[in-house]
Parts: sequence; C-alpha cells; structure tokens
Amino acid sequence: MLNLTDIQPQKNEVYLDNNATTPVLPQAAEAAIHTMNLCYGNPSSSHMTGIRAKYILDSTRTLARQVTGATDGKIIFTSGATEGIQTSIISALNAARETAHNITKPVLLYGATEHKAVPETLKHWNKMLNIGAEVVAIPVDENGILDFDFIAANVPNALMICTMIANNETGVFQDLAGLETVIRANNSDVLWMVDCVQGLGKIPLALSNTTIDYAPFSGHKLYGPKGIGFLYVRETAPYTPIIAGGGQEGGLRSGTENLPGIASLNAIFKLLADENDDTFKSHQVLVAYRAQLAETLAEVFPTIVYNHDFNYSLPTTLNFSVEGLSSKDIMNLFDAARIRVSAGSACSSKVTGSFVLDAMGKSTWQSEGAIRMSFGPASTQEEIDQACSAIKNAVAAMRHSCLILSDADETFDSKANGLQQWIYDQQCTWCYIDQDAKEIVLIDPVPELVAKFDTLVSCQNYSIKAILATHKHDEQADTPAILRELLGEKVPAGDFDQLGWNNATTTQVTLANDSVASAISIGEKVLVKVALPGHTNNSVAYLLGTAVAGKLAADDIDYVFSGDTIQIGGIGRSDFDVSDSTALYSSIKELSAVINEDTLICPAHDYKQLFTTTLALESANTPLLSKVIKDAIDSTVFVDEKAAIDKEITASDEPTYCGSIKESIDPSIDVTPEQLTSFLIENDNVMVLDVREPHEFEAYSDVNIAEQQLVNVPLTQLTDFVHTFHEQKQHSAFVCICRSGSRSDAAAKTLKRMGFENVYHVPGGFALYS
Ligand code: PLP
Repeated sequence: MLNLTDIQPQKNEVYLDNNATTPVLPQAAEAAIHTMNLCYGNPSSSHMTGIRAKYILDSTRTLARQVTGATDGKIIFTSGATEGIQTSIISALNAARETAHNITKPVLLYGATEHKAVPETLKHWNKMLNIGAEVVAIPVDENGILDFDFIAANVPNALMICTMIANNETGVFQDLAGLETVIRANNSDVLWMVDCVQGLGKIPLALSNTTIDYAPFSGHKLYGPKGIGFLYVRETAPYTPIIAGGGQEGGLRSGTENLPGIASLNAIFKLLADENDDTFKSHQVLVAYRAQLAETLAEVFPTIVYNHDFNYSLPTTLNFSVEGLSSKDIMNLFDAARIRVSAGSACSSKVTGSFVLDAMGKSTWQSEGAIRMSFGPASTQEEIDQACSAIKNAVAAMRHSCLILSDADETFDSKANGLQQWIYDQQCTWCYIDQDAKEIVLIDPVPELVAKFDTLVSCQNYSIKAILATHKHDEQADTPAILRELLGEKVPAGDFDQLGWNNATTTQVTLANDSVASAISIGEKVLVKVALPGHTNNSVAYLLGTAVAGKLAADDIDYVFSGDTIQIGGIGRSDFDVSDSTALYSSIKELSAVINEDTLICPAHDYKQLFTTTLALESANTPLLSKVIKDAIDSTVFVDEKAAIDKEITASDEPTYCGSIKESIDPSIDVTPEQLTSFLIENDNVMVLDVREPHEFEAYSDVNIAEQQLVNVPLTQLTDFVHTFHEQKQHSAFVCICRSGSRSDAAAKTLKRMGFENVYHVPGGFALYS
C-alpha cells in the first residue's frame, strides 16, 4: 500500500472544481492542526482544557452569525450540508404530521435544479414518516430561474418549500427577495429551506432579515475541511434533533463536536468578516476572472456554448458544451493537462445528461457534453493566469488529434491509422482510416457522432469511401443518408442502397466459399459486403481484408463488422417483425464459411466494454452458435432454440440487449502503482500500454516510464492492437495503464479474453503512479 505522504498532487495542477470541493485554505488547515495539537479538549469538559475548547466552539458560532447575518435563531454545527438538509426536512415533516391533515392534497415543493440531497431527502422522509405528501419539482425557465407562478399556485398546499441560493452545476442564483414575496404572499406559514451551500463567500447574507426557516451550509465548499458544516434555524421554525445522545449543541445535535473542523471555520469566517483582508475577492474581481477564462475558452473552442446566462449566475462557475466534443473528451484532456474540471454527466459508457440542464430545457448534446469549470471566491489572479495558459496548451493536443479544427491554416499528419471504435450509448460506430491513402470508412454511425466525424474528415482532408449501416429496422432513421446530407459535398455522389453501399463504385471479389461478393477498395484493402438476413431482413456484414488476385481468403480478413448478427454475448435477436430465424441459421453458416473462427468480429453494440470477439469465443458462450457452425442441428431445431433464447432476453431486465454474456470474464491482474517501477526493472520484454486517447497522451506524456517501453494504445483502438499484435500474445508481458485504472482494467480484460497471456493493469493509474 502507498504511504499517505506518497500521494501527492502533480506539479502545477490547476484546480477548477471548487463547486465540488475547495482546497483548504492554509489558515484553515493551521487552525485545525493547532486545535488538534494544543486545544484538543472536549468542549463539554469543565476543566480549563475543556473551557478553552468551548471558547473555540462559541466564538466560531458568533462568527457564523456575523457572516450569515443570523442575529437570532439557532446555529448548529453539523457534519456538512447533507446533514443540515436532513435536519431541516425531518424537522419540517415532523411538525407537518400535525398539520398535514388540514390540507387535502399536501405537497412538498423543491426547485427542479436542486442538489440531489434535497429531493432524495424529501422523498425518503416523506415515506419513512408516513406523511403522504406529493413531492413536486418547481419548474425553472431556460435561465434556471424558478417559476414564480407555479409557486404561487402550489405553495398554499405545501408543507415545505426547498430552494437554493445558487446552483452547484451552473452557478445560477435565485432572486431570494422575489421568492420570499411570492412564497409569503401565498402561504405565510410554509416552512422554507434555502440551501446556501454555494452562496456563502459569494453572496452577502442577512438571514435574520428574511423569513427563511432553514439554511444549511457546508465547510468544504468554502475552503474548510470535509466533515464540517452548520445549519441556521429560524427562531420560530420547528426543530427535531436527528442525533440524540450526550446533549451537545444545547441538545440540538448530540455527539462530541468536530472541534478541528469548527476551528477551521473560525479562521475562514474571520477572513470573510475582515474588510481589510483580500483573501476573499470582490464581485468585480471574480467577474474579471470569469471574463478572462471565457476569453481563453473562446479562443480554444470557437464554437463553445455556455449552458447558463452569466447575467443570472455567480461569476465563479462556467458551464459549457462544445458541439462534437463529449464531456468525456474534454474532461480527460483537461485532466491529462493537469486541469481539474468536472463533467456535467458521468463518464460512463451509458450516456447520461445533466438533470439540471435538462430542467432548463437545454438540448441533449449540451446536457450530455457539459463541462463545469468552477473557481472559488478566494482564487487568485495568478491561479487564473495559470489556468488560462494550461487551457491553451492542452488544446493543441486536441487539435493534433483532430477533435477540434485549428483556425490557423496548419497541415499536419495526425498519424491516425487503422480501426477505431467510437461508443455512444453502448452503440459502436467503427471508423477505419487508411493513413497512406487518406481514406476513411464509417460503419454503423450514430447521428450524435457526426460532428466528430466531420471534424476528423476536414482536419486531415480524408476522402470518405463509405458511410455504412449493417442493418436497419423499419422504425430506425436512415443514418447513412442523414450523414451524407449533413456532410454534403464531402461525400462523393453515388448510387446508394438503404444501408449506404455505393453500387456505383464496387468491384467483385471471391470469398473463401467461392461465393462472389460486392467490394469497395480502401487503400490497399477491400471492404466486402455479405448479406446476412435474419436479425433483420436487410442485415449484412462487411469484411475488411486484403484480396489477392480477386480473392479474399479467410486468413486475410482483418475485421468483420457484424452489426447485430453476431454480438459479444451471442447471436443477435431474431424476434422482430423484420426477423427471420431460418434465414439467420443460413447466414451464420455463410459467415462461418467465409471467415476463420479467430477472425476479429466488431459488432454494433458493446454492452460490457469488451470491444471485439470471435466465432470461437462466441461459440463457447452460446452453444447454439457452436451447433450451427458444426452442423450439429438443422434449421427447425435452431428456430425453436433461438426463440427460447430471445424470450429469455426479452424477459430480462435489459430486454434491449441483443447479446447476453454468460461467460465469466477473468478479473485483471494488478500491478499496483508502488510495484510498477520494480516490475518494469525486474521483467524483460514488458510493454506498457497507455490506453488513454492520443490527446491525453500528448497533453501528459512526461510519465516516469522509459520511452521504449511505453506505447500509446488508445482504448478506442484496442481492437486494432489485438489485430496488429496477435503474434505477440504469448511472448511479452503487457501492463495497461490509464488515468484512474478504469480504462486499463477494461483493456486488460479484453486482451486476456482475446488470448494475450501476460496482461496486467495498474489500479489507480497515473493518478497514483508518479
Ligand atoms: N447542496 C449543494 C448545492 C451542494 O453543492 C452540495 C455539495 O455538492 C450539497 C448540498 C451537499 O453538501 P455536503 O457535501 O456538505 O453534504
């Protein structure tokens, strides 16, 4: 295990994720350490050590009142805002148990863009306390501003209303005075919680001049450590302790107080309250910082779109999207370039948007591609300058990877060559580039990836040889045609069939079973179309390989693009209206007659991040496939057995899955970050595969691994690697590494599955290996 002191930030890290958590101010850290070392007493003890500790507790409470304008009411120290939110909601709902019966249809209102802690807590305690209210989201407009008319109409029936001072994803703030007017005009008694987490230090507060009943705060959003926060409760608001015990905090919250955390708040509050101290910057300074960052971003991403209006937002948050770039692309690049930001959506293979941006009615690409960049109220000019120069440097790597185009008229060779897998929502688009011929083919395109493809083509002046689908269900859009339309003149004219095959440019090749098939050339290779009806009546596979004297032997096929006919996990479904299981039986036979059992199959979906497969692997996973290939059953039995499998898939939790993996995937073998250096010294012939994308590799390549040992094998090009290096399966050891250990784990599992014998991965990746 690594020693804690070995876990260090990278040099020159640029931290722009302050809405998630802030760094701890040195003064706050010192206050906590001082308290731990010297003022470690229990504030409840009556001896002098205890009295000193109590002084810290009480004086911090006084300072909390000062910085929040809470001249009366309660200030209770908590573990953070989530606890403050629980306490507020439980207090309100507990009180509502008596009043709920006066309202015929009670509701609990919350802003649609509220932090998840709020709606989840409302739902949880509404159920646990048997309140029976309806939990209702208050809609917001395109600027994220709460709908006052909706509040006016619904608040009369509300037991509680929860709003926020400023949003954590967008920085959008609410007009508290306006809200108060509309709430109180329509329900003078409703309990009102305002989540103030993102406001303190950025918006002046005068809580006691308002009718806000509860206001939770969090220390780690304002330069304090994690695990400390506080809650303001209005004098007249009901209160229920959620932690009973020794009676600390005047019986309002038991448990010995987190004195080091409280001491750090003490230091922060003093700085906030001190008008002569410039640790916390003025609004104007923060606005200037934002302008500087926005100017840099506009320079590097000319098509940037902000997902919020700066006029309605705190200056410290910039939430943006760039069409054609996924949030994952930008996040990974920035992280490699030592710039920490956060993605609006999670970086999983399943595309998810941001519920905040969805509530604001932003388009899907904006919501799915959102990046949040947040600095803090104590950020410095130096940090912002450093951030801007790091952003400029990082983006050069993105240009070289053709993810964005340069304004300058530069020509360069991106070095992209071979096969790439682009995943969107578990659908695979396969892109094949012949670097020498500058030709490109796209198979099973997803419309959401068109901008990425367009940029790539323009960046390298590729000539588009084909944009193809492997099949089309009746209800599906004609994606190749849509792309041809969007790409305009970049696609040569032709005579296209419904899957995008250009009949005007074909030649013919003979396959291993002596059948003759239609082919197009790409560089020195051919792409051959083979009809495989069954999953749908128009399903085909495309074979990419090297034809010799008009013949494409099974051994010379590099890849098979199998669509949904052969999946990772078995045979594709054949229970649609346009399916035909008898035809599928023949199609499988046809395919197995023209390829080898080890030919790499590239399907149209990748549900488990396994990239590629073979007939041999699939036969082991699905005995039915094996029986067809070995001629062990006839088509009638196949049809019955296939129907039973399809029924099972439809009944499963994930009925859309066209393949269900039954095989157990071997876990990858770890080389831990602390073992890696000695592993590389002690073992000969080790190849370290950095499976990050080329732009990340370029942005952060000063890793501590000998150049001759380190190869960039982007995860999107892993199938190409499996093909190119298949002869080294037994010889070398391969250590996969990435940013965090997630992609390297996927790569190692796939390589193992594809027969590479000595494969390892580094859990924690470059984040822990330095
Ligand atoms: N509310 C908002 C607006 C937040 O941003 C957060 C943290 O992300 C929370 C509540 C929860 O705060 P804590 O981490 O202190 O529990």
